[in-house]
Amino acid sequence: MSDTIFSRIIDREIPADIIYEDEQALAFRDISPQAPVHFLVIPKKPIAKLSDATPEDQALLGHLLLVAREVAAQEGLEDFRLNVNNGAGASQTVFHLHVHVLGGRSFSWPPG
Ligand code: AMP
Repeated sequence: MSDTIFSRIIDREIPADIIYEDEQALAFRDISPQAPVHFLVIPKKPIAKLSDATPEDQALLGHLLLVAREVAAQEGLEDFRLNVNNGAGASQTVFHLHVHVLGGRSFSWPPG
């Protein structure tokens, strides 16, 4: 997988507002927030998109959801939305797997 802006954030080559880190994952605030709270949870392992994950990533993928839940609580969110864009046709722009976590406002369904 080619280097992305998110691997540069993991490596501290560019700044980000990091709000959680452990051995496997990082969470930081989205630079262009779409809600009062909007952060991204990413694996440190460079998986380009969800379609590229394999059965060996099962625990890692579950971990990302638990981190999302934990950081959402840390941010004071009771209700929140998770979003994973998979591929350019689904509006993915950074090809390092990330879970968007949005909260602090109400959301409609279906999404646009
Ligand atoms: P996606 O369209 O699902 O690939 O989402 C990529 C997200 O990354 C967008 O919401 C961007 O605002 C966000 N983003 C891009 N560059 C940065 C950055 N340097 N720091 C934080 N968030 C970023």
